[in-house]
Parts: sequence; structure tokens; C-alpha cells
Amino acid sequence: MKQYKVVYDREGCIGVGSCVAAAPKVWDLDDENKAVFIIDFEGDEKLQTAIITQDQLEAVKESAIVCPVQVIKIFDLETGEQVY
Ligand code: SF4
Repeated sequence: MKQYKVVYDREGCIGVGSCVAAAPKVWDLDDENKAVFIIDFEGDEKLQTAIITQDQLEAVKESAIVCPVQVIKIFDLETGEQVY
């Protein structure tokens, strides 16, 4: 199954939680009201990455689209091409 890398600029997150509504199986809000991956991820408080599969793509893409500050980017893991 195709895989994608989600790159999340946590530092730029302003809360709100639109991403959580779009993809509740991938995101939640933490104590600071910032989005947090609830799937396996790597990174620190500033920048985080997670790998998702094809079946999660639509929901995560929707979360990237609705994010008002565009801090969620998605790349094809194989080609490196930006999907959103
Ligand atoms: S939609 Fe964007 S700004 Fe809002 S919580 Fe999610 S990542 Fe943060």
C-alpha cells in the first residue's frame, strides 16, 4: 500500500482544531491546545513527521486543507512529491 509522509509544523499551529474534526483518528489537541499526532510520529516540539497509508490520505488531506495556517504538508513517501 502506498505511504505518505505528513510534515507538521507544530510551532506554527494556532490551535482551533479544524484538523482534529477532519481526521480524528490522526490528530488530537494537547494541553497547549495544539494539534498532536495520535499515531506514531517522530520529531520535537517544533516539527513532527508521521507516516500514513493510502486509506488515511483523504482525511489527512482534508485536515491540511482546513488548517487556517497551512502547517500540515503531505508528501509521497516514494517519490518525495508534495501531495498537499
Ligand atoms: S487546524 Fe492547523 S492550526 Fe488548527 S489545530 Fe490543526 S494544525 Fe493547528
